Amino acid sequence: MATFSQRVTPKLAERDGGWFCHYCGMELIPKGTPVTDERYFYRVRVPTYERRNSYKWVYQPLSKYDIPQVDHKLCKANGGTDELDNLVLSCGLCNHSKWTSDYAEFVAQIEAGKQS
Ligand SMILES: [Zn+2]
Repeated sequence: MATFSQRVTPKLAERDGGWFCHYCGMELIPKGTPVTDERYFYRVRVPTYERRNSYKWVYQPLSKYDIPQVDHKLCKANGGTDELDNLVLSCGLCNHSKWTSDYAEFVAQIEAGKQS
């Protein structure tokens, strides 16, 4: 079964004209892109810690991209809903920084940050 984010993110990308963070404009990796797609991901070897000299390969997003997250303009804690009108695509950083803060205040903060 598709998760909430899997169902909703393509609709938001279509509505907003592409895969980017609503707040900072960072490019996001389209949902459903295979991790082996080298336009978006790179392969890195990490230790498994299970035993000495044991490694596995994992895929990480290239630094210019992030994984799309769904942000509630009016957060659910403050009575926001899962209606598309209340949802935007967000990068991880913006989604985290906004948390439960007011939408308009957060947008103003981001705008101020872009100018400085
Ligand atoms: Zn962002």
